[in-house]
Amino acid sequence: MKRIIPDEFVQSIYEIDFNQLQRRGVKGAIVDLDNTLVESTRPDATPELVQWLDQLQGLGFKVMIVSNNNRTRVSKFALPLQVPYIHRAKKPLSSAFRRAMRKMEIQPEQTVVIGDQLFTDVLGGNTLGLHTILVVPVSRSEGMFTKFNRVAERLVFRWMKQKGLLGWEEKK
Ligand SMILES: [Mg+2]
Repeated sequence: MKRIIPDEFVQSIYEIDFNQLQRRGVKGAIVDLDNTLVESTRPDATPELVQWLDQLQGLGFKVMIVSNNNRTRVSKFALPLQVPYIHRAKKPLSSAFRRAMRKMEIQPEQTVVIGDQLFTDVLGGNTLGLHTILVVPVSRSEGMFTKFNRVAERLVFRWMKQKGLLGWEEKK
């Protein structure tokens, strides 16, 4: 159960304190695409996101998009941004996370995982001992599997709350 508890929980990617992460030795980010960076229905990055990526890279962070979505979706989104990506990542399996770290040439303790789902992004990151940051999904319009995951997540959240495992308050 502990494997699906994120190290941090924020309202959006824009709330993440990268200066603080940098002080802790973090050098690169494995970032989910759908409902983490933008809505799953939005084909391109927003100006705000472009700025965020510039800022991150300006600080010296490496960034890689790691998505379970298909090549068309992920490449169309990532190529104009010139951000490297892995599509059909099969998260929570470890292989894509490992490949991303290898390509960014960073160690697990230098890596942060950012995503909106407990059972793919957080579980996958925690399995390898990476620092995990859960964000509130950008959009609520999504496919059936994701919807199922959301229901399961609500149950897990409730369980964690009861057990006093949440260091942060879940916002409604
Ligand atoms: Mg997602």
